[in-house]
Amino acid sequence: MRITKPRIAIIESLTRHEGPISIEKIHQDIGTEVCDLVTVYRCLSAFESLGMVRRSYLHNGTCLYELTLGTPRHYHIVCKACGKTDRVDYFPVESMERMLQDRGYTQISHVVEFFGICPTCQKNPESRQTSISGRRTSRA
Ligand SMILES: [Zn+2]
Repeated sequence: MRITKPRIAIIESLTRHEGPISIEKIHQDIGTEVCDLVTVYRCLSAFESLGMVRRSYLHNGTCLYELTLGTPRHYHIVCKACGKTDRVDYFPVESMERMLQDRGYTQISHVVEFFGICPTCQKNPESRQTSISGRRTSRA
């Protein structure tokens, strides 16, 4: 794979973010003048096929990416009120994957995401956002 400036910038952006991050956020983070959104999307697809990044989805269909390097496989729980993503370091499906491999399947993947209301939002119902896409409605 060719090392290009946008690719390095995207990897750096993913490294800075602890949890999964959307394509739009990566684009803003690296600077919209570095490359266009389509390039970010193409780079992430390339990284994904190389196994460098993992993709997950929010319940509104938004796609999030995170680096696989150095992180054990894990799930996420997304707060339905503020959109905060938390890691769930519990991955109990390895034996199921082995079972499916025994049945002759390769490249096995699965999608599991958890959604709930985080403790902070339960304490401060006022601070809740109505949308987890990051778009806030102006109250001015
Ligand atoms: Zn929350």
